[in-house]
Order: sequence, then structure tokens, then C-alpha cells
Amino acid sequence: MQLVEVKEGRTRFLVPVMDENLNFPPSGAPVFFNKKMELNRDTTILMLRCLDAESYLDAMSATGVRGIRAYCECGINATVNDKSQESLPLLEYNRDTYAPGIEITNRDANAIMHERRFDAVDIDPFGTPAPFLNAAAGCAKKYLFITATDTAPLCGSHLKAGMRRYFARPIINEYHKEMGLRLLLGYAVREIVKYDRGVEPLFSFAREHFVRICLKLSYGAGKADKAMENIGFIHQCTKCPQREEQRGLVASTHICPECGAKMTAAGPLWLGAVSRTDIIDEMQKNLHGLELGTEAKIEKLLDTCRNELETSTFYDYHVLSRHWKVSPVAIDTVIERLKDAGYRASRVHYEGTGIKTDAPLSVIRESLT
Ligand code: SAH
Repeated sequence: MQLVEVKEGRTRFLVPVMDENLNFPPSGAPVFFNKKMELNRDTTILMLRCLDAESYLDAMSATGVRGIRAYCECGINATVNDKSQESLPLLEYNRDTYAPGIEITNRDANAIMHERRFDAVDIDPFGTPAPFLNAAAGCAKKYLFITATDTAPLCGSHLKAGMRRYFARPIINEYHKEMGLRLLLGYAVREIVKYDRGVEPLFSFAREHFVRICLKLSYGAGKADKAMENIGFIHQCTKCPQREEQRGLVASTHICPECGAKMTAAGPLWLGAVSRTDIIDEMQKNLHGLELGTEAKIEKLLDTCRNELETSTFYDYHVLSRHWKVSPVAIDTVIERLKDAGYRASRVHYEGTGIKTDAPLSVIRESLT
């Protein structure tokens, strides 16, 4: 295996040389490394700097990059695990050269997570994290970070795969990225509360082809019940942009109050806040001292997430304009008008054309032109 040294944040490490002629270069290498996930990793380092984790399990580490970075940039006791035999020599080389204090394990992630416990656990597989969340729910003492790259199943375009993995039903529409994120949150909550543990999202976002959620876990049936209060359904009208939230585990039948058409239920999913504003504040404070390669992008992302309303869906400005057959004013003007009319309104990080607001459809319609 040909190797090359790369630098992310303040950390150096070796990764396999990629065949750039391939459609997806990481897929051809014996040990996985995707340069494009740097922002995902940078946000993790930033997050760890803001939390009180002393131990960190990088359960599916490949090159070990996350654990090595957590050790070098956050001073955390990191364990890097991967079940692949091929990753082992590279992990050992990276440890010996760059991060002498890290621990290496060569186990199935579920086996190590059932046997040992860590303050923070990171699940970063190819595709779906679903098969790992049960073990992770017991292994993580305080924090659980999860990446999903199976956005097609999560967002409804591979409906059966999504239902098999997450035992929930998405619907495809203009806010499918947020729905996918909420479906993953809902599934993670289900895996955690069964152990009488509470769960609260600290920072979650969807970007390009992945969803990332960072959760704080606590103990007690009461805390678990509190988390369950945020599980429910989104009812989307099949004929118009109207949508409604419903809490609970049984989806009732909804008829659209705007147009009388039948509504379709998506869920069960998480209806609560996907991030905590105090955590985003803390991340914003810490961002500039870290030399992160994606700092400018993270700055923008945090800013948008900080201002995003906590409603569970958003409207797409273009979809609304097509629906009402109008040519709209600029999106920022629409948001200003909604605010002037006494409602809350914000942009969203999911789509450049997304608007969150608590205004009724009639007010949104007036604000568009
Ligand atoms: N976290 C890495 C990328 C990991 S890719 C990064 O940020 O670059 C997913 C890795 O999970 C692969 O190296 C694969 O070998 C490993 N893997 C897949 N199934 C596993 C399992 N059941 N237990 C442990 N590792 C597993």
C-alpha cells in the first residue's frame, strides 16, 4: 500500500494514496480515507473541545484519523478501533509516529462497545450506522456522535431500505434532508431510551451526502420519557404546502385544514430541537483557535444553525413560488417581511432556498410577492 502524509487541523498522519481516476477514490484503497469528510471531522474536534470527555472511542477508525486528532488536538485518551486486518499496520505506524498515547484495538465495533465504556463514542461507518447504535447506546457514558452516509434511504428515495434500517417512514419532498436527519435522530433515540437513558441533540447537521448528529446521553427512566415526548410524526398535505406536527407513537389521520386534502404521515421521527444554542455559542467561541482547514465553512454553518428556527420542517422558496405561480422577491426580503408581520423566520442550513417560519401559509403567500 502506497502511503502519503496529510495534515488536518494541527495533526499529521499517513493515508493510502488514492487512485484519483476512480469515481469515488476512497473505495479503491485498502484502508478508507475520504478527504471530503474533513469538515465532519473538524466539527468533531471542535465539539470535543467544548465538552468534558476524557475518553473517546473512534469505533470505526480506518486510518485512525479521528482518534489521532482527538489525542493531538484535544488531549483526549483516544482508542482507535477497526475490524479490518489491513488497517492495523497503518494504525500502528500512525500511532508510533504521530500519537504515541493512543490505544489501538482490532475488534468488531459491536464487540468492543458491548465490553467497554467511553465518555464519548464516534460511529462513522460507510453507509448506515443502524447496526451499531444498540451497542453504542450502552457504551457511550456521556456523548454519542453518529454519521450516516446512506442519505437516499434516510430521505425516502430508497424507501424500503430506509424502513428496514430505521423502522420509520420518510416521504420525499422539498425538506427531505431535514426529514432524514430527524428520522436518524428518532431511531437513535429509540435505541437509547430502551436502556432508561435520556438523550438530547447537541449539534446536528446534514450536508452533501451525509448526516451528522451529536448527542448527550443521561441516565434515568424519567429522562428517557422526556426524550420520548419529542417523538412523533409530520403530516404533509398531498396537494398543498401545509404540514402539521403530531407527537406520540400512533399516527392519526389528518385532513389538510387549508385545502381539505388527505395528509401523509412521515415518522416516527424527532420533532424537538436538533441542536442546542449554548453549544453552538461555545463552538463559535472556540472555532478560531484551532487551525481547522474548514474553518470558514464551519463558521458559516454554525451561524446558520444558530439562527435556524426549531420548527421541524422548512419551506422551499422555489417550490412555494411554483405552487402559487408567482415570481418571488428575494429570499431575504421574504424573511424580513415575515418578521415584520410579527412571525419568526430564518434561513436553514439544509438548502440555500429554504425558509423556516411559524407564519401561516396565507402570510407566507403574501410575503412572497
Ligand atoms: N472514521 C474514518 C472512516 C471510517 S470508514 C474517517 O473519518 O476517515 C469505515 C471503517 O469501518 C472501515 O475502515 C471499515 O473497515 C470499518 N468497519 C466496518 N464494519 C466494522 C465493524 N463491524 N467493526 C469495526 N469496524 C468496522
